Amino acid sequence: MGDFSLELNDDQIQLRDWIHGFAADVIRPAAAEWDEREETPWPVLQEAAKIGLYSMDFYAQAFFDPTGLSVPVAMEELFWGDAGIALSIVGTTLAAVGVLANGTEDQIGEWVPRMFGTVDDIKVAAFCSSEPDAGSDVSAMRTRARYDEATGEWVINGTKTWATNGGIADVHVVVAAVDPALGARGQASFIIPPGTSGLSQGQKFKKHGIRASHTAEVVLEDVRVPGRCLLGGKERLDERLARAREGSSAGERGKNAAMATFEASRPAVGAQAVGIARAAYEVALEYTKTRVQFGRPIIDNQGVAFTLADMRTRIDAARLLVWRASWMATTGKPFDAAEGSMSKLYAGETAKWVTANAIQLLGGNGFTREYPVERMHRDAAVYTIFEGTSEIQRLVIARTISGMPIR
Ligand SMILES: Cc1cc2nc3c(=O)[nH]c(=O)nc-3n(C[C@H](O)[C@H](O)[C@H](O)COP(=O)(O)OP(=O)(O)OC[C@H]3O[C@@H](n4cnc5c(N)ncnc54)[C@H](O)[C@@H]3O)c2cc1C
Repeated sequence: MGDFSLELNDDQIQLRDWIHGFAADVIRPAAAEWDEREETPWPVLQEAAKIGLYSMDFYAQAFFDPTGLSVPVAMEELFWGDAGIALSIVGTTLAAVGVLANGTEDQIGEWVPRMFGTVDDIKVAAFCSSEPDAGSDVSAMRTRARYDEATGEWVINGTKTWATNGGIADVHVVVAAVDPALGARGQASFIIPPGTSGLSQGQKFKKHGIRASHTAEVVLEDVRVPGRCLLGGKERLDERLARAREGSSAGERGKNAAMATFEASRPAVGAQAVGIARAAYEVALEYTKTRVQFGRPIIDNQGVAFTLADMRTRIDAARLLVWRASWMATTGKPFDAAEGSMSKLYAGETAKWVTANAIQLLGGNGFTREYPVERMHRDAAVYTIFEGTSEIQRLVIARTISGMPIR
């Protein structure tokens, strides 16, 4: 169980080839259109649902792989197809992971399937944590959840921002401060069921990249949800808050558990960046072999060929970091050097670097929308920003390896 091998097994190869086929045949041909439209590509999601790729069962199976490699392999292929469309396909999992990490078995069983809907009536879900004044600094969150003893309901007020699928989701998972004095340890996550009054979409952002993925503000005005919508339940929350107020070692353990969850989810994001980088590298390799200047293919120049050599080396290194961290997460190895953060940091930076150099190698063509590398570069840019910026990843790694409270 859990033996690590760099050679994919038959199931993993089958998975990779299946998703690659969908990415090549369905996602890629639609990429430019949905990037221009800046809308959720519902017809593509529909196709993904039809073949079982957009479904709870698919993710359950991928996460079940004891080696941990199925998830990064799947992510790389999807994002190789197109990052904007792929993010529309996997965006729901952000919310699903929020429920899996904090919910009870009953809550997982009730809400996760609803997040995906059915093949005939697909739905998406949103995870809403970031706020205008609380991005990297999650502890500054202002959205408040207050318990109404009289009705047994939670009342939530605040404004969330940058929410992938925010406002168009059926189910929203919202993080709110229950006891703001406790910072991040005084927060809890809530399910906002479909049709709940008081929740509305604010501004929809017009973005630099991943434009097929919907990103918007979510406004919460006196949103009332039943007690059962508090993920993990009230008893567990009360115990957790009590421990945090005492500042006990048990409270510290809770904080470490949250860190471990982040470390475990970061490699999947790193794998997405690897997919974008690989896609751009492949275009650049092909182009430089066929583009002739000064009577020979431009790859005949060391200056060009060495850039391609560096691209490939960095992409392979990024993938190895991603696979290692994913394997560690699945097999329960401790992240003693924040290996999850390392993988996301390196893969995100690699995607940005590779795509920028791909534009350079394609010259004027690289700068136009006739070729896909400019889109890939715009898409890659977010990989050093969301799910923890590169600076925050470095902070986590530096603190973990040094044991010092580096600021
Ligand atoms: C397309 C997109 C989709 C997103 N999807 C979601 C989503 O679904 N749900 C959600 O909750 N959020 C989402 N986010 C939000 C994302 O996680 C935040 O943008 C990110 O955490 C950074 O926060 P910020 O934008 O407020 O930047 P800030 O925190 O204001 O950072 C600005 C700059 O300051 C740097 N910085 C900040 N603090 C430090 C420090 N201590 N040391 C060094 N440098 C520092 C940062 O690294 C960055 O370079 C999304 C964002 C984008 C762009």
